[in-house]
Amino acid sequence: MAALESGGARIRRVRARVDGTVQGVGYRPFVYRVAHELGVSGWVLNDERGVLVEAEGSEEAIAALVARLRCDAPPLADVRGVISEDVPTTGVAGFEIVASSRSGAATAPVTPDTATCADCLAELADPDDRRHRYPFLNCTNCGPRFTIVRGIPYDRPATTMAGFVMCADCRAEYQDPLDRRFHAQPNACPVCGPRARLIEHDGSEVALPDGADAVRAAADDLLAGRVLAIKGLGGYHLACRADDETAVSRLRARKHREERPFALLVADVAAARELVRLDDAEAQLLSRRERPIVLATRLADAPVAPSVAPRAPELGLMLPYTPLHALLAQDADVPLVMTSGNVSDEPIAFEDEDALERLAGIADRFLVHDRPIATRTDDSVARVVRDRPLLLRRSRGFVPAGIELPLRAPRPLLGCGAEQKAAFCLAAGTRAWVSHHIGDIKNYETLRSLQDGVAHFEKLFEVKPQVVAHDLHPDYLSTRYALDREDVELVGVQHHHAHLAATLAEHGERGPAIGAIYDGTGYGTDGTVWGGELLVGGVGGYERAGHLRAVRMPGGERAIRQPWRMALAWLVELHGEDVAPPATLADIDARTWRAVAHMVVTGTSAPLTTSMGRLFDAVAALCGVRSQVSYEGQAAIELEALADPGTEGAYELRLVAGEDGGPAILDPAPAMAEILGELAAGVDVAAVSARFHQGVANATAAACARLAAGASVDVAVLSGGVFQNRLLLERTAAALEQAGLRVLAPERLPPNDGQIAFGQVAVAAACDAG
Ligand SMILES: [Zn+2]
Ligand SMILES: [Zn+2]
Ligand SMILES: [Zn+2]
Repeated sequence: MAALESGGARIRRVRARVDGTVQGVGYRPFVYRVAHELGVSGWVLNDERGVLVEAEGSEEAIAALVARLRCDAPPLADVRGVISEDVPTTGVAGFEIVASSRSGAATAPVTPDTATCADCLAELADPDDRRHRYPFLNCTNCGPRFTIVRGIPYDRPATTMAGFVMCADCRAEYQDPLDRRFHAQPNACPVCGPRARLIEHDGSEVALPDGADAVRAAADDLLAGRVLAIKGLGGYHLACRADDETAVSRLRARKHREERPFALLVADVAAARELVRLDDAEAQLLSRRERPIVLATRLADAPVAPSVAPRAPELGLMLPYTPLHALLAQDADVPLVMTSGNVSDEPIAFEDEDALERLAGIADRFLVHDRPIATRTDDSVARVVRDRPLLLRRSRGFVPAGIELPLRAPRPLLGCGAEQKAAFCLAAGTRAWVSHHIGDIKNYETLRSLQDGVAHFEKLFEVKPQVVAHDLHPDYLSTRYALDREDVELVGVQHHHAHLAATLAEHGERGPAIGAIYDGTGYGTDGTVWGGELLVGGVGGYERAGHLRAVRMPGGERAIRQPWRMALAWLVELHGEDVAPPATLADIDARTWRAVAHMVVTGTSAPLTTSMGRLFDAVAALCGVRSQVSYEGQAAIELEALADPGTEGAYELRLVAGEDGGPAILDPAPAMAEILGELAAGVDVAAVSARFHQGVANATAAACARLAAGASVDVAVLSGGVFQNRLLLERTAAALEQAGLRVLAPERLPPNDGQIAFGQVAVAAACDAG
């Protein structure tokens, strides 16, 4: 309904509904500013669905405003839809931000932590700015969110900033809708906000030299070769300069972290390029506002100490994501080791007292601050595969952004995950929230992290799960946690089905598809250890269409730490119990060798497994890569690193029809025989590794194509921890595409067990929907 202005122009009033992530991201002040610019009247408010706007003005101005609601949105907003309708004009002048009416469920109350924006970095570097070198500056477009939030509504009293009272200047910014810091909950300055301090490992204050601040002094310490514990955004890091072998090896020894590579902090992309080869996609991933650690191929002459990443072909780099890290990287001006603040496999420290206690034996000094961390949040890790990001760990920067489910869940859901690299997932309607990285839930402490995390998410998203999904493994602590929940309906989801469902669902699909799900360990429905699975199905169900030939895993879990046992299992399969060790395994004690060979034959303490991870271990051990590992997957990672991509040829894995219509068998015996033959003939392991990778890729694609044709599906899903292997993923995807199948691989969630909870939720939602 239009009215006429005195000048004769048509006046129009519209009501616009904006859906998406539009709360807590400066969306209302943005609308306010645009309205002022265009001279329109009306109001804007947050409600349970998102943002609602009413605007009145000339035809032109209203059309411009509606267009800008979507295309001009502030950087942290994710506008999924704008629907507008005409309403009667009111003639009321002025535009205002109306206080929120809170009714119904919150949709997006908390957003992820976001790297310092360009405007804030400019202030940080400006000697005339009141926030010059202030390590905690932030604004509506950047800064801490998830790591400081304790409850809802997302407002300063519900964050760990509650104890800091804003000074008059900060308050004025906070209250001014035209200011970049309007309603920026963590807003702070040197007068009123958190402070950084440098302390000795006994807790006493370090006397700072004249004119130096704590961060500058910490940088000087690092340059002098000291090891520092640094309190960051989601936890403590341990840091030292990366080009100083004495410092790095001292840190490694004190941390008891034998061989896992350390991540590095560099000031910018140019500094990164002095260490690794970066293509455009990798540089982009490194610079994303989530600031993950990016794994990239190291340059042969990269100036880093040997102990940073022994034998690793890649380095993990990240750019600064808080002002404190930006200052530190600039002041030090050398690459810095920035590894999680813990001893070996413990969770990283994030509470001050605990950190001082646990890290005192490792760090010479501590760079700390007085803004508490509400939720421990590890750095995220990613790499680029097929020109797309592949997340290996999804945590800081990504959490708790919601992920859409491909179907509506009738009742609220919780997925509890598996055991390793655990995360949980809460869901309601079509929205799912995957948690921060919890770690390996193998002890009381990580179980408590799961319990606390679930309680926190239930509060943040106002979701009380009525259906709880869990792994089928009865001994997983996550399964027991699920079984202990009261008044819920339980849904057990097979591990590899969850991998398949998670990958489909993150792409907005439900299947059916053929999935090649390759990982280390997953509980099968027949009680054996699965892990080389060809599944036909979707979120609603699956059929085990094929699997890797089962072999014995002598010693069970011990075979994971000692890949030579898997090599022996295959040797016994091929040549019988009396097989002699090949030259590459000559160091294994002869009596142990015979005893383990006997276990393979009798099956005593040697469960059957179809695990692809274990097959890679076997080949790595036969190649002499290593017979023992210090973490799961290490042998396979080094085998991949050795492969010469220029090598032609592929070993043969044969697809054999199953008995009585049962699952087909993917049999690597021909490949194993070829590998033994070539190794005995002195063929270089670089060639053997390449042909093995190509063989698995070819055989997987051929098997998928055959099973897909039989089931009339044209989509192939590749997932499971084994597909963290870039060479294998690239080669398999290429072979599948050549066979005419559309390929889906994980992008937003990791291919490893970090995606399991989301998959469990997708399966449980389908099951609940009937
Ligand atoms: Zn900012
Ligand atoms: Zn202030
Ligand atoms: Zn798995």
